[in-house]
Amino acid sequence: MNPHVELVAQNKQFERQVIELAPDVFGAIGFAASNVYMIIGDEGLIIIDTTETTKAAENILAEFRKITSKPVTTIIYTHSHRDHISGATVFAEGNQVEIIASDNFESDLVAIDDRHPSPNKALMARTKRQFGMGLSFPDERVSVGVGPGDRPMQGMGAGYIEPTVLMHDAQTSISRDGITLSLVKAPGETPDHLVIWYDERQMLFCGDNFYSSFPMLYAIRGTAYRDFNAWADSLDLLLEFNASILATGHTMPVVGAEEVKARLSDYRDAIKSLVAQTVDGMNQQLGPDDLAHSVSLPPELANKPYLKEFYGKVAWSVRAYFAGTLGWFDGNPTNLARLSSKQRGERTIQLAGGAEQLLKIAEDAAASDDHQWALELSDHLIAVNEQAVAAKRLKISALRAMADLEINAAGRNYYLLSAKEMEESLEGQV
Ligand SMILES: [Zn+2]
Repeated sequence: MNPHVELVAQNKQFERQVIELAPDVFGAIGFAASNVYMIIGDEGLIIIDTTETTKAAENILAEFRKITSKPVTTIIYTHSHRDHISGATVFAEGNQVEIIASDNFESDLVAIDDRHPSPNKALMARTKRQFGMGLSFPDERVSVGVGPGDRPMQGMGAGYIEPTVLMHDAQTSISRDGITLSLVKAPGETPDHLVIWYDERQMLFCGDNFYSSFPMLYAIRGTAYRDFNAWADSLDLLLEFNASILATGHTMPVVGAEEVKARLSDYRDAIKSLVAQTVDGMNQQLGPDDLAHSVSLPPELANKPYLKEFYGKVAWSVRAYFAGTLGWFDGNPTNLARLSSKQRGERTIQLAGGAEQLLKIAEDAAASDDHQWALELSDHLIAVNEQAVAAKRLKISALRAMADLEINAAGRNYYLLSAKEMEESLEGQV
C-alpha cells in the first residue's frame, strides 16, 4: 500500500488533544471521528456534541475531568448524525441532563422508517466500506477524511439520549449556568443543523457546516439529496457572526477572524461554483458522466488546503446535484431502456472476440495504469460469469491501485474494503 501523500499529511488535523480555545471553553480533537466541546459555567458544564462511541466519550470526559469536576447539565446536538450523538450517556454520568436539538432533528435519517421497506442492509454494507470498517490501520485505512483512522469502536452508537428540548425558532437565546448562547438553525450538511453562537467569546460552533475538506455534499455510503443552495446560504449566515473562533464538528478548529471569514467564504464560493457549472452543463444537455469529468473548482479554491477532497468530492457532488434536481434520467433517450449488466456483458464479450480476449484487453489496460477501464471491462466478465475468477483478481488489484491514487479517504476506504470482500469471496477458488 502506498497511500496518497496529502491524505497521510492531513492526519495532523486529528492529533489527539484537548485545546483551550477561549477562557473556559475547551475542544477535544482527535479522540474520535468528531470533536466534542465543553463550556464551563457557574455551576455546571455545557457539552456540544458527544461523539460516536461511549469509549471515545469516556476518554474525552476523563480529560475534561482533569480540568473541572462540575457536572454536565446541558448537552446540545448540532445535528443527528450518529458520530455526534452517541456518547451522551457518558457525559450525563447518570444525571438528568437537558438535551437540546433542532425541532427537525433526525430529518436526515431517511432509512430508519420501520413501517415501510427500507434499504438499510445496503446502507450498512456501504457505510462499512466508506469508513473502512475491517481495514487495517495505518496501511489501509489512513483516516476517515474528517477524523482519525485509529479510534475506539467500543460502544458505537450506544450512548444516545433523545433530546429533551427542541428548538422551533430560527434563532433562540438560552442562558444556562451563567452562559448565554444563541442557537441558530442553519441547514447544511443536514437539514437539522443547529449552530451555536457564544457572543461573549465571539465563538461559533458550526457542527458539520464547515470542516477542513471539500464538503460531503454526497456521501457514497448512500445519502438523500443534500440541499446545496441551502448549505451555501447557511455559510452566508455563519459569516454574519464575524466569529473569531470557529469550533468545527471535525478537523482542527479555526482561530482568527480573518481566517474564519476566508474559510467560510471560500467554502460557500466552492459550493456556488460547483452548482453554477453543473447547472450550466445541464442546460447544455450534458449528462452526469460528462459533467463529473468537466466540472472542477477554480484553481484558487481547489488549492486551498481546506477544500482538498479528503472527505467530499467534486465529481460525486456533481452527480448528486444532477440526481437531486433532475432525477436519474440523463435526458438521452438511449438510456430510457438501458441493457442489464449481463446483457451488456454478453454483447461486449462478443465484440471483443470472446471472454479470453476481453480479459486480455482488461489486463493490458491495468498494465498501462488505465485502472478505471480495467474495472469497467472486468465487470462485464463478472456479470456474465465468464473468466470470472481471473476478472475478479484483476478487479481486486485495480481497486487497490485506484485506492492509492485517491486523496479522498471515503473513496480509498470504499475501494479497499470492496477489494477485501471480493478477495474473501474468492478464497478456496483457483
Ligand atoms: Zn459529523
